[in-house]
Amino acid sequence: MKTASGGAQGLRQIPPMDALLSEGPVAAFFPHLGWDTVKSVLDGALAEERKDILDGRRRESSVSSVLRRALPTLERLKRNSLTPVVNATGVVVHTNLGRSCLAQRAIEEVVAVAGRYSTLEFDRELGRRGHRSDHVEWLLNRVSDSEASLVVNNNAGAVLLVLSGLCAGREVIVSRGELVEIGGSFRIPEILSFSGARLVEVGATNRTHRGDFERAITENTAAILKVHPSNFRMEGFTSVVPRPELAALAQERGILFLEDLGSGTLLDMAPSGLPGEPTVGQCLREGVDLVTYSGDKMLGGPQIGVVAGAKKLVDRLRTCPMLRALRVDKMTLAALEATLRLYLRGQQEEIPTIAMLRAEEGALRRRAVRLAARLKKVLPKARIAVVPVDDAVGGGAFPATNLPGWGVTVAEPALGSANDILTRLREGEYSVVAGARDSEVVLHVRTLLQGDDRRIASAFSGMTAKE
Ligand SMILES: *Cc1c(COP(=O)(O)O)cnc(C)c1O
Repeated sequence: MKTASGGAQGLRQIPPMDALLSEGPVAAFFPHLGWDTVKSVLDGALAEERKDILDGRRRESSVSSVLRRALPTLERLKRNSLTPVVNATGVVVHTNLGRSCLAQRAIEEVVAVAGRYSTLEFDRELGRRGHRSDHVEWLLNRVSDSEASLVVNNNAGAVLLVLSGLCAGREVIVSRGELVEIGGSFRIPEILSFSGARLVEVGATNRTHRGDFERAITENTAAILKVHPSNFRMEGFTSVVPRPELAALAQERGILFLEDLGSGTLLDMAPSGLPGEPTVGQCLREGVDLVTYSGDKMLGGPQIGVVAGAKKLVDRLRTCPMLRALRVDKMTLAALEATLRLYLRGQQEEIPTIAMLRAEEGALRRRAVRLAARLKKVLPKARIAVVPVDDAVGGGAFPATNLPGWGVTVAEPALGSANDILTRLREGEYSVVAGARDSEVVLHVRTLLQGDDRRIASAFSGMTAKE
């Protein structure tokens, strides 16, 4: 019953802050969150309680009813937010899960510079100021076969730098089939307009011809921009102008030919069953003036973006004021240098992304058999099977390529539906992100790292312990 006097009485019951702060379960949060944060959460809980009483949703209040509101929030704030997860999705470059995992060597180099002073901008031979870019540019040039390279914060930044540094106030021609949006709000038309360049669209969504580009070139044209269509894929009646033809046209007409490669692989992945993506070096050899690509996709390193190609153009970009806003941190550079040195030495297998992409089916199957055996021990009544699965490169690379993998399916009605199990796997102490098919949870083994079998098993045993 909703009455004014009931409300007034309820309001009088609302406990004072002092009473709440002296409660044991509340005080336990002081060392983790500090007194002020705990108090502000309690303030919020008290305000909600008051509102519920005034609106008639609640008639009584007590210390325990306020704590029921506040404790889950305090618990959530106490836990670290950015934490490791087990990636059992089979998507190697998984943007939501942090894309590439660093090689052990890269991690060691990050740790080495993180807590100490370093040669970040110091030339130790001459004892004077150096450039932070010196550490990695020569390595990038070597492993990508480019004349010059420039490192920025990410590929979106690299594209923006190139367009604003070389094309602002002028026109940039892009095929309509490549005016894509790439997950996370990176839209080519918007980046172009933000850079100050003017977009000129040519061709139809499915087909663009050399003549389309030719007719669009005016005295105001700065460049032709080719864009990797990422996860957007067309089939059937399609046609794009080959890279060497666009390069020849751009050269003839005295304009730039730029390409946003997206993932930008340094290795030819065709022998590993991933055909169809040219390497960075190949694109440059085919006549692209400047390419841009990511560091944490196919390269398998930290989050960076690279502008690579003609030295004359890269040097022009070095003087752009925007470069200062896109610069990378020392930990990133340490990880990048170490990763590139693995390429230099031919030890790319030590890079998790590369090893996962090259994993052989037989090895994946054996790994799935081992995981299934482990899970049968913790889930004796569950239906567990080793099955072939479809994995994916992710990050927009090789969207058309099916990456055959192996996985383990789990169905255990006592733990709930597949969706219930997925939720509990995610919320466990060590979050496990998996897939589902019909009524079964699917654990893809390609993206598992060392120790993940044990983590998955303990996530399941944690669930059965709670039953
Ligand atoms: C991933 C991608 C980007 C964005 O790269 P970030 O490194 O995430 O900034 C841009 N263009 C293409 C084609 C991509 O695939």
